[in-house]
Amino acid sequence: MKTTRREFSRLVAISAGAQLLSSIPALGEDRTIGYCIVGLGRISMQHFMPAVKMSKKARVTALVSGHREKADRMAAEYGVASRNIYNYENYDQIVKNTDIDAVYIALPNSMHAEYTIRAAKAGKHVLCEKPMATTVEDARSMIRACEGAQRKLMIAYRCQYEPAHLRAVQLIREGKLGSIQSIESAFGFPIAPNEWRLDKKLAGGGPLMDVGIYCLNASRYLTGEEPSAVKGFSSVVDKDGRFAQVEETLSWTITFPGGVLANCTCTYGSQMPGYFRVRGSKGTMIMEPAFNYDKVHLSGQLAGGEALDLSPDEPDPVQFLREAEHMVECILQNKEPKTSGQEGLRDMELMAQIYRDCEKKSA
Ligand code: NAD
Repeated sequence: MKTTRREFSRLVAISAGAQLLSSIPALGEDRTIGYCIVGLGRISMQHFMPAVKMSKKARVTALVSGHREKADRMAAEYGVASRNIYNYENYDQIVKNTDIDAVYIALPNSMHAEYTIRAAKAGKHVLCEKPMATTVEDARSMIRACEGAQRKLMIAYRCQYEPAHLRAVQLIREGKLGSIQSIESAFGFPIAPNEWRLDKKLAGGGPLMDVGIYCLNASRYLTGEEPSAVKGFSSVVDKDGRFAQVEETLSWTITFPGGVLANCTCTYGSQMPGYFRVRGSKGTMIMEPAFNYDKVHLSGQLAGGEALDLSPDEPDPVQFLREAEHMVECILQNKEPKTSGQEGLRDMELMAQIYRDCEKKSA
């Protein structure tokens, strides 16, 4: 039997509609969640805020920015009252603002911990961009702060809410690939000079922290297991000054307890469209593109020769809408987010291990 793209799109539309329109309990039916956007950069302005605009369950109610003019412009576009515009210094005053239920943190990686902890102290829930932090210690402090304040902490792993990724996981669990042997995954792009992503203090590391994390996280949700061992190699090929502080390319191998081997590569040195391939004893699946904001494509051959060809017809920013509404659901229903702080912490611990292993070899 072949699952056609048309059939899949129909199923996705039904499930998306059901999920996006009806999942909030009666108690909170007339309640929308107010998001305070912390950091007005690419991901927040081009993807997350437009997604919240599409939502019937959430609204952008406040902004935090170091650039007042930009904040005024965005406030006008999103109907945010000027009293709800903050900067990085007076951010803690959000404690008094009942228009804000949750903050969405879209700052350079090393700032995630501070702005999460300050939000928790102000009694706000936190949806924080990946990577969760730049150190394991910071990640743990973020979890402690949110737990202590009894606020939700969710890490913005949008792929874990995307229908084709969910279908890939389901097919693997149903045994449609037989026993999984190996996973290959890669993601990268050639980075421009002078990006904060090349500054180790702000980024915490290079492409592993930024794009490799998609491959790492995917290998964990595809297997449903936690790695038992990791090995890594990093390199710098282009000696043009961009990689004075962070790696240019990094490859790693993970062994999972069941024996699955995952081989992954990430880079800031070349165009490397994000993909994963899973090979099993009875079939193979490949998702390419896998980590784009839209047009992901899952194909392959399942047990018994069944063809797989799925391409959810979901335009950007629907992935961000799913993530924003999952947080809403967790707040209103008092549920733990699927991609909680603990999920972010596991990736932080693994990335730290990968970096340590790379350093051992260069020492
Ligand atoms: P960006 O450079 O476009 O935006 C960063 C924002 O932080 C800007 O508003 C900038 O003014 C502000 N900022 C405050 N202090 C700063 C400082 N000292 N240096 C630089 N900027 C400072 O970055 P982005 O691409 O929007 O990434 C933001 C976060 O979102 C990162 O953690 C990144 O990993 C994550 N991200 C997630 C996705 C995703 O698909 N989930 C995609 C891209 C980025």
